[in-house]
Amino acid sequence: MPRVALIAHDDEKPIMVALAREYESLLSTFDLVATGTTGERIADETGLAVERKESGPIGGDTQIGAEVVEGRIDGIVFLRDPLTAQPHEPDITALLRLCDVHDVPMATTRTSAEYLLDGLERRDEPS
Ligand code: PGA
Repeated sequence: MPRVALIAHDDEKPIMVALAREYESLLSTFDLVATGTTGERIADETGLAVERKESGPIGGDTQIGAEVVEGRIDGIVFLRDPLTAQPHEPDITALLRLCDVHDVPMATTRTSAEYLLDGLERRDEPS
């Protein structure tokens, strides 16, 4: 079962919830992990079970980065706010870098997230 991390900055959380609703049946077949507040929103507003790390600004992105290093994460949807500086920018940059190092796909927009989730679904189909 693919393990997928979900992270959204505050302005992007409504988009993440809409995406999770639209992809709820597929996501229910995935193992989901999320930063604290994103995970809380998804759990409250959909029927999905989500493992919650700490909130991003206090280390949740770094916890997910550690799982990337350990080879536990198959893909990340990280809906970043491109217009607002984040206090934990170094952690975000580190997570991006780890995804590059370990060739873990990361989607940062709604459309690329759809491609990523569709791709993980296809990868898991028996050939
Ligand atoms: P949050 O963290 O889901 O706890 O808001 C996301 C982030 O800012 O990285």
